[in-house]
Order: sequence, then structure tokens, then C-alpha cells
Amino acid sequence: MKRHSIIFAAILLFAAATGFSQGARSKPDPEVSKMVKEISAKNIEASIRKLVSFGTRNTLSEQDNPTRGIGAARDWIFAEFQKISSDCGNCLNVEKQSFLQPKANRIPEPTTLTNVIATLKGTTNPERVYVVSGHYDSMCTSPTDAKCDAPGANDDASGTAAVIELARVMSKRKFDATIVFMTVPGEEQGLLGATYFAQQAVEKKVDIEAMFTNDIIGGVTSQKNSPNRNRVRVFSEGVPSNETEQQAGTRRSVGGENDSASRQLARFVKEQADRYLKNFRVWMIYRRDRYGRGGDHIPFVERGFAGIRFTEPDEDYTHQHQNVRTENGVFYGDTPELVDFEYTANVARVNLIALASLASAPARPKNVAIVTTRLSNDTELKWDANPDADLAGYEIVWRDTTTPEWTDAINVGNVTNFVMKSRSKDNYFFGVRAVDKAGNKSPVVYPRPVR
Ligand SMILES: [Zn+2]
Repeated sequence: MKRHSIIFAAILLFAAATGFSQGARSKPDPEVSKMVKEISAKNIEASIRKLVSFGTRNTLSEQDNPTRGIGAARDWIFAEFQKISSDCGNCLNVEKQSFLQPKANRIPEPTTLTNVIATLKGTTNPERVYVVSGHYDSMCTSPTDAKCDAPGANDDASGTAAVIELARVMSKRKFDATIVFMTVPGEEQGLLGATYFAQQAVEKKVDIEAMFTNDIIGGVTSQKNSPNRNRVRVFSEGVPSNETEQQAGTRRSVGGENDSASRQLARFVKEQADRYLKNFRVWMIYRRDRYGRGGDHIPFVERGFAGIRFTEPDEDYTHQHQNVRTENGVFYGDTPELVDFEYTANVARVNLIALASLASAPARPKNVAIVTTRLSNDTELKWDANPDADLAGYEIVWRDTTTPEWTDAINVGNVTNFVMKSRSKDNYFFGVRAVDKAGNKSPVVYPRPVR
């Protein structure tokens, strides 16, 4: 008995001393759990099959044929978003963002491209924006062949279908911040639709706090026996793509090659997904994208927005960017028969959990800094006060320098500076996040040094 109570007291003491309060330990929000259940693999399957039915969605294909080509896909997505909006009392702003893309590497003639966008405006902080995206264009073996069949069921009808399903489920709720459900063309032509959107956001000074691209999330069935089956890769860059020379100098001096805003976003997504999903996990990949390759989050990170990529764990290259054919007994082509709709639904659920958590939480604290005026084994952190009306306070998080994810957190209350006694910035990485009265937490911000 005595021994048990000593152990128990020791555990309590340990918990109090570390103030450990990872998201994984906080209770799930019942409304988010409800939404997770509402994501339907059947709806996703129907959307994928419909998108495939347009024969090709090559960016250079027909735009005025109602049944074949990228124009038919564009108009169908637009109509889907409008239908979803009319089911929520016109809660979505549905628009076609068209622009004339000049000649480029994979654009032989100037071509009109159209991003199809549905915006769910935030209630209390509409100026804060989260973007979730998939690309609706497709390609066969040649990116400039506009005639061949290019079903693109996995790449990327799967991502497009997930975005439409997210809009359907999430539009029935209200969030503090704005969520943009985006589908873009021109990915296979050089990330053109996403680049245009990101550039417009810079010019209009839109506060995009996070961007997700869902690209190849079909969980190709040929890889069904893979040990990675029950997880999705989340790619995030370590060093910011838009880092200046001066920032690079600071980073070399204080560390932080594993602490970009995109990396913090990826950590946030994993932490939130772990709260809600038992049998499906986020597999963190500490890389901007797959080896030497790219996706629609890149134009965002290059412009200083936090952005990450969701992709199935094991790609099958006989079913990507291939003319549909059988050769020497091998079937090539990206057809719906090879998509695991339940898998895609699970990836959509991870997106939903992360987006709902982000859009309900306070904004990330601004101007987070470590004060370096004097040498000390204490660590002094400071930051600006958040404007969020429902703010409760802040948490300081930390981890060992060799640990990939935040391990410890302490609630410091509604203050804008705090000294971590006898915990040296030489020996740990620190971060700060904001918490609201309902317990929703922002992603972590990694501090810069100030004197
Ligand atoms: Zn793709």
C-alpha cells in the first residue's frame, strides 16, 4: 500500500513539474468527432467516378464541351460547390478564379485556367484564412497530350473529391476563422493554378495561416498489403523556402532547421489527428515534398505561407501519368478501380480534424522571441498579445534538441512574457502557442532571438 502511494505521488509530482499537456491527452471535441463520422467514402467515390467520366482533365483539353475535357470538370465542381452552398443557406462564396496563363514550359499557347473555390467565412476572425486544396487537372504519359484519356482517379481526383467532401461536411458548421476549399488546374503544367492563387493572396495581403495540398491520396489498391497502409504521409519543409540571407545567418547561429512554420503545422496536424483517430495515423516526412519533386503547397511556402502536402505512403508509378493500356500483361493507367475510397476518406478525416482545430483555435502568437540581452541559464520568452476575444492564455512548449516533436508544455496564463527558470535555451528548443477558453490550441511558433 505504502509503496503504491509513493509511486502515485511520484507520478503526480512528475506531471506537475513538467506541466505536460500534449493535445493527445486533451478530450476530443464532440462536434469534430461527429464531423469525422460524416465524411463519406461513398460520396468520395461518386465524385472520383464523375471526374474520371470527363475522359481527360488535361489543362490543355477542351473547355467548352459539356461532357469531355477540363471545362466539363470545372463546371461540374462549380455546380457541386453551389449545391453544397444552397444546402447551408448560401453559406459558401463559390467562385471561378480565371486567369490567362501565358506560354510556359508545358503551355504551348496562352490558355485560360480556372481555380474553382468555395469559401466558408469565419465568424469572429474572418480575416484569418486556411486553404485546403486538390488539383482537378490530370495527364496521361505526355503532359501536353490533350486528347488521350487521362482518368487521373488517384492523381488527383482523389484530392479534389476530398476537398468537395470537406466542404459538404464543414459547411454545416461555423468556425472562428475562414476556410477556403480550393480545386486548381495546371498542377501538371507547373503548379500554375496554385501559383496564381498564392500570388493573388500576397498582392491582396490575405492572411493565409496554413495551406494543405491533397495530391494522390487514393491509397492505390495495388499497395494494399504494405505495412504503411494505415497512415498518410505529411510532407513539411524544415528550412523555410523563402528564408532570407539574414534569417539564414540567424538560424545558423541559434538553430531551427527543423522548426519552420510548415514543420510546426505538420506537428499540429499529427497531434490533432492522434486525438481523434485510432487506426489511422499521420506519418511525418521531414522533407518539403517527395525526393526532388513538387506539389501545389510549394508556391505557398515560397511566398512565406505555412504549407504541407498529404500523399499516400506507397505510390505505384504504373498507375500515375500513364496512357491507359496493357503492355506485356501489365496494366497501366490511373483508373478508379485502383482507388481505395475508404483510405481517401481517412485522409479527408485527418484534413477535417486539422482544419476544424485550426479554424476554432486562436491565431498563432506574433513576434515570439527569446531575449538574449544577458547570458543566463534561464530562458526568457516574450510575444505580442493575441487579439482573439476568447483567448485564455499561452503555453510554452519545449523538447530536447534531438527530439522530433514537442514533448512538454506548461500553461503560463494570459501574459506576454515568461522566464523558464533553470532551463537553458542552449539545451532545449522552445515554442509558444495560444490557447482559447474552450482549450483549442494554435500551432506552435518558434522564437527568433532579440536583444
Ligand atoms: Zn498530382
